[in-house]
Amino acid sequence: MEHIVEFKNVIVEYQMKHYNLRAVNDFSLKIPRGKITALVGESGSGKTTLASTLLNNVSKPGKIVSGEILYYGGDSVYNILDLDSKKLNQFRWSKISMVFQGAQNALNPIMTIFEQFYETLKVHRHDITEEEAEAICIQYLELVNLDYEKVFKAYPHELSGGMKQRVMIAFSLLLEPSLIILDEPTTALDVIVQDYIFKLLKKINVELKISMLLLTHDISVVSKYADYVAVMYGGKLMEYGSVKNVFTQKRHPYTKGLIESTPSLDKDIDSIKPIPGNPPDLMNMPSGCVFHPRCNKAFSACPITDPKLVLLENGNHLVKCLLYKGGDDNE
Ligand code: SF4
Repeated sequence: MEHIVEFKNVIVEYQMKHYNLRAVNDFSLKIPRGKITALVGESGSGKTTLASTLLNNVSKPGKIVSGEILYYGGDSVYNILDLDSKKLNQFRWSKISMVFQGAQNALNPIMTIFEQFYETLKVHRHDITEEEAEAICIQYLELVNLDYEKVFKAYPHELSGGMKQRVMIAFSLLLEPSLIILDEPTTALDVIVQDYIFKLLKKINVELKISMLLLTHDISVVSKYADYVAVMYGGKLMEYGSVKNVFTQKRHPYTKGLIESTPSLDKDIDSIKPIPGNPPDLMNMPSGCVFHPRCNKAFSACPITDPKLVLLENGNHLVKCLLYKGGDDNE
């Protein structure tokens, strides 16, 4: 399988005056090209921090302490973290773009939609004319099923939440990136609009063959729209594989807990089992397996041994749990 980016042993810390908080801890993973990969986990699991490393844009006092992030572009491979500021500015949005959490607030309230599109295009293509920018803008607004004549000259406050979200998706496509990061792209939208937006994203993924990295805590969205899923906990990768394998086999106790705690229309309310306890305190991370204080399968080795990621027998399915030895399991 071809890949678009690869995280290699990435560590990110928030460096405070008297201590450091490790938000991403030795994270390694290859993201498949042309697919939707979901990154799931509870709040504070490190999803947003990890995604921001792809643009080398971790907010201060965060710092990428070590690791590599390889970008596989057609005939060249390079480490995003090695790009100087000029190359990084060219790289951002043209290779990888991002739809931010609460994207509706990312639009400038005092500029029309077209002015914002034109401004971004000019930064990357200095000689672009207004007519050329207009044609590109129309192309992408139509792609996200917006009536460009209404939206083009509108200010953000004149659009509904769902329309603003579609504007942001069109915005992320402007420079034809290979990968789009979607950070909880439907937060604050009602379920019908959410479903509409995800169907639209799936269409863009399939028709334009754009890879997507979807950050979410919504397991039902993952099961419906993603191809692959990576489960994060305490800044570490706990499980990765195709949605089908991960959701049907539920190997990692944390993944199982996430799935079993998700309500659905066809599930008996009494069968919903929340994961006990709280996400780990980054200032006081548990020893051994970081999930052990909440794990219903924990045994004597768990508090003292940090499990390795092992590849299961069905290939391309990784699990970080002492119950599994790779190729086989001893459950
Ligand atoms: Fe649970 Fe132990 Fe596996 Fe961690 S290593 S997930 S504590 S069984």
